[in-house]
Amino acid sequence: MTIESTDTVVVGGGQAGLAMSEHLSSHGIPHIVLERGRVAECWRSARWDSLVANGPAWHDRFPGLTFNGDPDSFPSKEEVAHYFVDYARQIEAPLRCGVEVREVRHHTNQLGFQIDTSEGSLDARSVVAATGPFQQPVIPPLVPNDADVVQLHSMSYRNPQQLPEGAVLVVGAGSSGAQIADELLRAGRRVFMSVGPHDRPPRSYRGQDYVWWLGVLQKWDAPAVELGSEHVTISVSGARGGHTVDFRQLAKQGIALVGMTDSYDNGVIKFKPDLGDNLARGDANYLSVLKEADAYVACNGLDMPAEPDAWVIGEDPIWVTDPILELDLREEGITSILWATGYRLDYGWLKVDAFDETGQPIHHRGISDVPGIYFLGLPWQSCRGSSFIFGVWHDAKFLADHIASQHSYLNRIGAVQQPPQQNGQK
Ligand SMILES: Cc1cc2nc3c(=O)[nH]c(=O)nc-3n(C[C@H](O)[C@H](O)[C@H](O)COP(=O)(O)OP(=O)(O)OC[C@H]3O[C@@H](n4cnc5c(N)ncnc54)[C@H](O)[C@@H]3O)c2cc1C
Repeated sequence: MTIESTDTVVVGGGQAGLAMSEHLSSHGIPHIVLERGRVAECWRSARWDSLVANGPAWHDRFPGLTFNGDPDSFPSKEEVAHYFVDYARQIEAPLRCGVEVREVRHHTNQLGFQIDTSEGSLDARSVVAATGPFQQPVIPPLVPNDADVVQLHSMSYRNPQQLPEGAVLVVGAGSSGAQIADELLRAGRRVFMSVGPHDRPPRSYRGQDYVWWLGVLQKWDAPAVELGSEHVTISVSGARGGHTVDFRQLAKQGIALVGMTDSYDNGVIKFKPDLGDNLARGDANYLSVLKEADAYVACNGLDMPAEPDAWVIGEDPIWVTDPILELDLREEGITSILWATGYRLDYGWLKVDAFDETGQPIHHRGISDVPGIYFLGLPWQSCRGSSFIFGVWHDAKFLADHIASQHSYLNRIGAVQQPPQQNGQK
């Protein structure tokens, strides 16, 4: 049986897969992008209805295409998905949608890999796993499935009407948890929110959005140096035109704050007494951005209006001075728990020796220890910006350059055909 052959198979047709395709094309490397759903499927079907981009249109994009409309606005999730459809068209990405990759394994005694898909098999010298930074929802195993409460991960949350009548406990203080809690409160729900450690940069300061500040202060380029620091969630919001996430403000508006969710027993959920510490940590992060921004302005003699009000931190809410350490779900009328507790990777389909004992890819900037296997779009793949739209484009370029250089090595022994030199174009 003849199997279709190409140089590189890219698995996943989200932003990572498209960026990879663009850079492979620039090197003239034949490739196919396999996507099990539609282009940017996660932006279409794994996000809640009202979601807008967390960064403004001028920033959260690829270099080669701008969003339509106001560059300072925050595009809706549909606009983001359309953007990537337009981008795929613009770069003429060799996409095959509706094709799921089920297994990838190394050929025996031969260069390259066999890729088994829902539509048959392919053969390729390299495989790029671009299946996303957020693949499988994680719900801590605390509340049993048969408990008398609806449990939903943020990936499956769509809108407040989806939840049964009653109060909601939102667990997680990252962007998803903060935005969903705010939406539920505005929809008239009684909301409890479990707040863990988080960073919460100011939405804007001295006339510029935080994405600009993190850019000029070179924070997007920061490598994950401290073990564990890559897991501290960042809480930002583009909702309602964009605003700073401020848990004190949310408490004033009526959300009851609690510390980290700790345990569950017979209808009672318990929390750690760490709310004050977690809020203080978020404030320290917020103030550190202001401080570094002021230093940057002073050092460079920039004319940017001072913003003394931004330095004012609100009072501790009552939930810090008089903490709630447990809640009886029935007594409080809590009918749903919304877990905004993150995701894990799942490379069950990739049958190569490129993972540690916990299933995490072993790699350097996406280049795995198994020649020919690459990862793209991982959180902190090369730096803080890696899993974001603007960051993945640069990581993809790095990988495409590596794949091209492998080509020239292997070409010396005639193991691959040297692709035609196309000097940066398809
Ligand atoms: C709620 C939320 C909001 C976000 N907001 C922003 C933002 O405003 N700005 C920003 O820059 N980033 C944002 N991000 C982060 C990041 O941009 C997105 O997670 C983005 O979707 C990641 O793109 P990706 O291409 O790496 O992965 P994905 O978009 O997850 O794409 C991976 C693709 O692979 C496909 N796939 C998976 N397995 C297979 C298989 N076996 N075979 C074939 N196809 C497969 C999937 O269908 C999917 O389409 C947000 C993330 C979340 C969760």
